Amino acid sequence: MQPVTHAMTVDVEDYFHVAAFAKVIKPSDWHQWPSRVEANTDKLLQLFADHNLKITFFVLGWVAERHPQLVKRICAQGHELASHGYSHQLVYQQTPEVFRSETAKSKQILEDLAQQPVTGYRAASYSITRKSLWALDVLAELGFTWDSSIFPTRHDNYGIPGSPEEPYTLITSSGARLTEFPLTTAKVLGQSIPAAGGGYFRQYPYALSRWLFKRASQNQTRPQIFYLHPWEIDPGQPRVPNASWFSNFRHYTNLKRCLPRLEQLLADFQFGTMSASLGSVNIRKTLDLRELDKH
Ligand SMILES: [Zn+2]
Repeated sequence: MQPVTHAMTVDVEDYFHVAAFAKVIKPSDWHQWPSRVEANTDKLLQLFADHNLKITFFVLGWVAERHPQLVKRICAQGHELASHGYSHQLVYQQTPEVFRSETAKSKQILEDLAQQPVTGYRAASYSITRKSLWALDVLAELGFTWDSSIFPTRHDNYGIPGSPEEPYTLITSSGARLTEFPLTTAKVLGQSIPAAGGGYFRQYPYALSRWLFKRASQNQTRPQIFYLHPWEIDPGQPRVPNASWFSNFRHYTNLKRCLPRLEQLLADFQFGTMSASLGSVNIRKTLDLRELDKH
């Protein structure tokens, strides 16, 4: 049997956008930090070109506004463009009005640069949780058809524990439909262990990441998502002072190991864009939020 196509994804943002540093770097100060996102993303573009691989880039609106040529290069090289919102604020800390206006704005910025519709979305820090399910209605109203913001696990900042672990049809509170491609988790001793990439990929030994990813894919029969940020392959990024020990640990661990590990992952699994991966699977599950709200 052919192995399934997993989705390779990059959330295009800079090191100073991350939630781990939100307490020490205000959005109004972002422009004062030296930007590394364009050079780091170019490195990833080169790596994917070397592997003849098309992937999905979720681009932050704030980045697209300041680096339009980068967005154009992503599109020109045949990759899939999707939205990572505009301001990288946690959705459950926003009002629906603010979320709607900045998500519409970021979609427009990307569509103007790409000259094509942008229909996929991923929230900052996977912040669509039980507290912000209204955001899914807004996404459907704005013309998004698929989403990748829900982690079916328990975490201090995100997650909807017990939600499906494979792509599913999501019926929003107002009855709209979205295809949800949840972030990868592997069941180990009854627990859902995150296995989607990012910080976990840097913290776990590679053999453990590979084992978890394979397990989550049920021995390569179920497509899964891998994600990475451009700053995660950049050991030379400026250090942010005054961040907590835990934030530093989350952000700086094993930056040097990330790129070689990614190359190993590309050799061990077959990857493509989100749409290619979704297209390779029969979507069997439906999650009706109108039912979930009753529990
Ligand atoms: Zn992000």
